[in-house]
Amino acid sequence: MDSVRTCIGCRSRASRSSLLRIVARESEIVVDETATLPGRGAWLHPTASCFTDAQRRRAFGRALRVTSQLDARQLENRLTWLMDN
Ligand SMILES: [Zn+2]
Repeated sequence: MDSVRTCIGCRSRASRSSLLRIVARESEIVVDETATLPGRGAWLHPTASCFTDAQRRRAFGRALRVTSQLDARQLENRLTWLMDN
């Protein structure tokens, strides 16, 4: 059975296969495509609205336990790509 995770954007619960796993590497938010990277992960719907919500509430740093400014460009690019396809 697919386990359930909470999206850090909209805070709703969803199956992990419908969410994107992200981790922090150095000060960059990295998309964990295969959901296998070690370390603390966070889960996000691959949508612009959930990304924006998470950014506005600074949910990335909180979820990933990073206090410094996180670079979200890779994730942002990935979401743009998803939405174009
Ligand atoms: Zn969401």
